[in-house]
Amino acid sequence: MNSQSLDKVVSVSNLVRLIRRMDEYELWKRAVFVRDRFTCQNCGARNGRKRIIEADHKVSITILVKENKVNSVESARNCKALWDINNGRTLCHTCHEQTESYPTRFVQNKLR
Ligand SMILES: [Zn+2]
Repeated sequence: MNSQSLDKVVSVSNLVRLIRRMDEYELWKRAVFVRDRFTCQNCGARNGRKRIIEADHKVSITILVKENKVNSVESARNCKALWDINNGRTLCHTCHEQTESYPTRFVQNKLR
């Protein structure tokens, strides 16, 4: 196996952090919100004073980074899978928090 060394540049978790700060990430988020009409896809809450909506990657960024061998911000920018709005959904903060404590669900979705 020809393994590109990911740890040469930055660790996956550091890269995920960097990706979340990219302009592309902001654009992706906005596109997901617009498609979902700023409504939580889990509980139906709308963006407002009480609820804050967030965009969730159905297949997590961490998995996408590993699968696509993304090893830099530049390669993240060119990775179409990361910016596919079909992989995004709008969740309110409360629902989003719940998904993050169950990361295995994302893995199961991916395998389907
Ligand atoms: Zn919700």
